[in-house]
Amino acid sequence: MDIEAFRKAGYQAIDRICDYFESLHSRPVVAQVDPGFLIDALPENAPEEGEDFSAIADDFQKLILPGITNWQHPNFFAFFPTANTFESVLGDLYSSSVSNPGFSWLASPACTELEQVVMDWTARLLGLSPHFLCASGTGGGAIQNSASEAFIVAAVAARARYMRENPNARMEELVLYTTTQTHSLGAKAGLVLGLEVRDLQVRAEDGFALRGAMVREAVEEDIARGKRPFLVVGTVGTTNTGAVDHVDEIGQVLKDYPSIWLHVDAAWAGICFVCPEYREQGQLAAINEYANSFCTNFHKWGLVNFDATALWVRQRHDLIDALDVTPAFLRTKQYDAGSAVDYRNWHLGLGRRFRSLKVWFVLRSYGVAGFRAHIRKGVALNDHFVALVRAAPEFEFAAAPVLALSVIRLKDPAGASAEAADALNRAFAARVAAANGRVFLTQSTLAGRTVLRFAIGAERTEVAHIEGAFEVIRGCAAEALKEFEAGGAEA
Ligand SMILES: *Cc1c(COP(=O)(O)O)cnc(C)c1O
Repeated sequence: MDIEAFRKAGYQAIDRICDYFESLHSRPVVAQVDPGFLIDALPENAPEEGEDFSAIADDFQKLILPGITNWQHPNFFAFFPTANTFESVLGDLYSSSVSNPGFSWLASPACTELEQVVMDWTARLLGLSPHFLCASGTGGGAIQNSASEAFIVAAVAARARYMRENPNARMEELVLYTTTQTHSLGAKAGLVLGLEVRDLQVRAEDGFALRGAMVREAVEEDIARGKRPFLVVGTVGTTNTGAVDHVDEIGQVLKDYPSIWLHVDAAWAGICFVCPEYREQGQLAAINEYANSFCTNFHKWGLVNFDATALWVRQRHDLIDALDVTPAFLRTKQYDAGSAVDYRNWHLGLGRRFRSLKVWFVLRSYGVAGFRAHIRKGVALNDHFVALVRAAPEFEFAAAPVLALSVIRLKDPAGASAEAADALNRAFAARVAAANGRVFLTQSTLAGRTVLRFAIGAERTEVAHIEGAFEVIRGCAAEALKEFEAGGAEA
């Protein structure tokens, strides 16, 4: 493709992307295709001769788009929505135009320095302590592929620090703490790093949040059996219910065990710290006081398209000492002088994408005011949803609504056994799942019971979508209840 052909195809691509966004509301939320639909439609081998690009572009419309689950759809309430923006799409476009792996300052000075700038901008915007700023010279932040990878990075740093401070420790004695509500990133890190993971049992009466006393009890028990707890992950805004672990209590306990690293995973909720009014609820003061590392995703609620995870550490040398691999061919004058950041030593890979560009575009285009307005709108929409649920006698909240997340289920029908009531909720969830062309929610379990999560955050969701979605949900509930009543207890 030459420059003029690219110009033409590029204009067409932007036009088609605009058409896609204009047509979003009329598309199904979840792709309505069966497994194998695309594999069957495509040839077994790559074409022998190059094809005309217009045919290729047309196949994106014809073959790919129908198989896309539309995360940008205003009726997308599953998992945690990703708030894509045109600014971040353009950021990715420019980034790919200068495609480079940015592993050292010299590999592309602007990639490294813009990342330092936006990580400091956002650290200040979230109200993180100055210790976490690149400008501090001791802490700093880096963009990672995902919150899961960010946790592996934190775990590697935590392990290296622990082994340095406890030279007699053996790797197989190490244990990391998660809770029964921690994201699967805890288990994943355990698998990848060959570490024992202990799931602490959080309780419904604590709102499924981890308490300091549970950590102390586990640490004492494990030390008594010759284990070495070295890392605790506290979650601010759990995936299941939005629960906030008691970072303040955990931090207090860990003062007695200074070799144990505290990682705070706020992949979804952390971004709401841009609004000062949510900082107390999210334990920001305790994070600033106690966390060794803190992570949040721009690519969920934070207006930047996938992927852009922000990870900050209080002590960059913990990270760099653990991850520094600098063979001769990667050494530069700046590295030797220690005068520049080489981001290869801040993440798992060597090369990395130029993602700070899209964060920069979004922050500048929205401004702090616009960014805050987006977060506040999500919370207000959830307040609206909560009011609708409260006014409908058949529903209850399985956990207290948090920010832009509600977890609901049908109340137990009078006289129904726990099993029958859960069968009713499974039937309800199955009906909602069958309506996934219109609305998309995630089914989950909480304390052994089936629940539905309703997560708000797509950039185009408005009050009308919340009301429309609630109508669909309520219709599914009515059908499930009718069937339950007709079938009696065996339903
Ligand atoms: C979504 C989520 C994650 C995982 O995020 P990835 O970036 O996809 O790895 C981790 N923790 C919490 C609390 C989440 O909500």
